[in-house]
This record gives sequence, structure tokens and C-alpha cells, in this order.
Amino acid sequence: MRRFFAALTLVAPFAALPSVEAKEVRVYSGRHYNTDRAAYKKFSEQTGIKVRLIEATGISLVERLKREGANSNADVILLVDAARINNAADAGLLQPVSSKELQSNVPSRYRDPSNRWFGFTRRVRAIIVNPNVVDPNTIKTYSDLANPALKGKLCLRKRKNVYNQSLVADQIILKGQTAASAWVKGMVKNVSQPYFGGDVSLIRAVGQGKCGVGLVNHYYLARMQAGASGKSDQKVTSNIKLVMPNPAHVNISAAGVAKSAKNKKEAIQFIEFISSPKGSRLIAGPTFEYPLKNLGTSKELKAFGTVTPDNVSISALGAKQKTAIKVMADAGWR
Ligand code: FE
Repeated sequence: MRRFFAALTLVAPFAALPSVEAKEVRVYSGRHYNTDRAAYKKFSEQTGIKVRLIEATGISLVERLKREGANSNADVILLVDAARINNAADAGLLQPVSSKELQSNVPSRYRDPSNRWFGFTRRVRAIIVNPNVVDPNTIKTYSDLANPALKGKLCLRKRKNVYNQSLVADQIILKGQTAASAWVKGMVKNVSQPYFGGDVSLIRAVGQGKCGVGLVNHYYLARMQAGASGKSDQKVTSNIKLVMPNPAHVNISAAGVAKSAKNKKEAIQFIEFISSPKGSRLIAGPTFEYPLKNLGTSKELKAFGTVTPDNVSISALGAKQKTAIKVMADAGWR
């Protein structure tokens, strides 16, 4: 009897090996926020699945995945902005997945109709104003940025950045190409400074009064105002007023299962977690993005007021990206 039990205990660990083998998910992320790691840690604690993170900026991530092809180690791909997400899907880098949880976590306009990607945080392309230069009450919507009264006072980021491309795509869908072209031309006429390389430098210029008005993603301003990038940025942004356009162009961060995923089940579980109310809140909190549902709790975001999204879906934006770039180039947006 004794020998029998001894044999059993010896055998048991081997028999159990396949199920106790460390599970993992490899995440290729085009997000550049260190704070995401805290949310991944919660996922690991909850599921026992280890997260291996590989970071690269949006475009190089897609290039890398294309190069790696079927040999890629990626299980999950994270990207920001409709343009990049749709491009990754069009390039065949993602596979459709069926998950009831994802359908209920993610409102339909923030996910791919073919189930290849799912949003998990939201961002607004918002208008920022220096009240010493321009009266914030004269600006309510994107259209107002083409008002000739703003000549020499508007600052814009370079054309090649996807954030503005997606905004222009959004306006083309809402107004039609002719009206959207007229709007872009009107804005370009109002630009005085050279086009900016990033949202952060543009925000500083607005704070310093070099620009009266600008277009930026809301979270950059919130982060600077909260002091996340230091006292000097906090000071220079303290005076800036964010005008929440009504309706607002809402963009997303999104996740999809890589075409070549070797850990598909774990990949789906990971995306279910980051798009869940809890996961979305964990990711969006420290970056000052908006979670998928509700508007976050920080005082900076509360000061921005409520968000009324327009009704354009993220997949529709992708389809208009090329047209948007042409409209911008034709108008002289550099
Ligand atoms: Fe960003």
C-alpha cells in the first residue's frame, strides 16, 4: 500500500504537467505608456497568464509585423488611432475572433464589424484656447477654427500625423468632401506658426501665447495640467482652456489577436480584460484617456466637461483616411 501511494505522488506531478505549464500572452504594443504595465499585472494576477510586452511606435510596429509574417511571436497587437488600427487589419495582421464578452464590453462603433479589433480606451481631438489671445466663448465646434477672425492665431500639427488625418476623415464623413475641404482650407489660412511635430510642443506654444488656438488630443493637456510632465509644463498649461467640441471626434486605442498568434485563447482573455469596465479604467486612469464607458474621475478630465461623441464609427474613419490626406495636402497643410 505504502509503495502504491509513493508511486502515485511521483506520477501525479508529471501527469499534471501540461496544465500547470506557464501560460503567457505576447503583446506587441504601439502605446508608449509605461503605466499600462500596472493593468497587465492585474490581468496576470487574475488569470495566471504572464504578459510579455514588446513596445514600438504605431507605424514601426505594423512594419515589423509585416516583416515577421507567420514567424511573428505576437499574440495581441495594441494600436492607437483608427487610421493605424484599420491599416493593420487591411494588411492582414489581425484575425477575427468571436467572444460574447467582447461584444458586450465594446460598443459597436468602437469595434471592427468583422471582429478583428476592439477598442479599449477613448480619446477626443479637442480644441485648446489661450484666453489671453482668443475668447474661448467664440469657439464651439471644429468649424469655428476656419473663422477668418482667427487669422494668424491657429496652430496645427503636421499633416503626416494620423490624429489630424482621422479628424479630417471624420469631418468628411459628417459634412461631405466639399464642405470638409472648405473647412480645412479655412484653417490652413489661419495658421501662422510652422506646423508642429507633436501635440505637447503645440500645447506649450498655446500656453505661452504664441498660438491662440490649437487642436490636440485631450489627454496630453490633462496630463500636463496634472503635473505628470513636471512643474514647468503644469504652469504653462494652467491658463489653457479646453473647448470640448460638440459633437466631438472620438478616437480609440484598440486591440486585436495577431494573425499568427500561438496563444489565441490567452490573447482573447487579455483583450476581454483590457476592454472590461475594470480593465479599461485601469489603463485609461493614469494616461488621462477616457475609459470605454463613462468619463473618468480625475479633476482635470472633469474640468473638460461632458463628451458628446459624433456618430461616426471607427471603421468608417479608416475607409476615408486616404481621402483625408489628399484634402489636407490640396489645402496646403504641411
Ligand atoms: Fe498620443
